[in-house]
Amino acid sequence: MTAAETLADIHARIEKAAKSVGRKPDVTLVAVSKTFAADDIRPLLEAGQRVFGENRVQEAAAKWPALREVFPGVELHLVGQLQSNKAAEAVALFDVIHSLDRPSLVAALAKAMAASGRRVPCFVQVNIGDESQKGGVAIGDLPALLDEARAADIPLAGLMCVPPADKEPAPYFGLLAKLAARHGFAGLSMGMSADFEMAVTLGATHVRVGSALFGTRETR
Ligand SMILES: *Cc1c(COP(=O)(O)O)cnc(C)c1O
Repeated sequence: MTAAETLADIHARIEKAAKSVGRKPDVTLVAVSKTFAADDIRPLLEAGQRVFGENRVQEAAAKWPALREVFPGVELHLVGQLQSNKAAEAVALFDVIHSLDRPSLVAALAKAMAASGRRVPCFVQVNIGDESQKGGVAIGDLPALLDEARAADIPLAGLMCVPPADKEPAPYFGLLAKLAARHGFAGLSMGMSADFEMAVTLGATHVRVGSALFGTRETR
């Protein structure tokens, strides 16, 4: 398949999933291009895709400025863990951050946004499966973190999660949707290549799709 065909296929699957639950297909497809080179990304840009996700600040800084010169209108999303000492660079480079997950990062991002004058919407990442190795705020700590983020004037886009890899994801997506509703958020960043249709049926507004668009990633 060409990049345009692959992209059309993913959009069709999103639309079908949305329709199956009587939703409008108002879902943002974030094409996760981590580990892929500019040459792999360009066909998707040429096919019209403009929203991309990366999980490392350094890698994004190396790849995207040159691509952005050729393809205006790119919206870059950070979908990986962010170290506080890279907050300023992330605020300068990214248009949306999906991984706000702790008070120290609230402080670092607030400082970076105030210094740069750029306000970058942030999803708060929730450790929805309570996994020790995963990023995300514990469910019990979510209300306090949201209070801190609001007090620091961080623009909040909604909630984000990555369910446990070895489990049926639907209950976790459902739980994230419930938490978002409880806190008054419409934005839900959930669903990856293996489960984005399920996520759409449960209310995802942003799906983060990598391998289904770009092919299998080499492990680094
Ligand atoms: C890599 C990654 C994705 C995309 O994963 P695929 O399974 O390749 O679609 C989505 N979200 C996050 C946070 C990621 O790190």
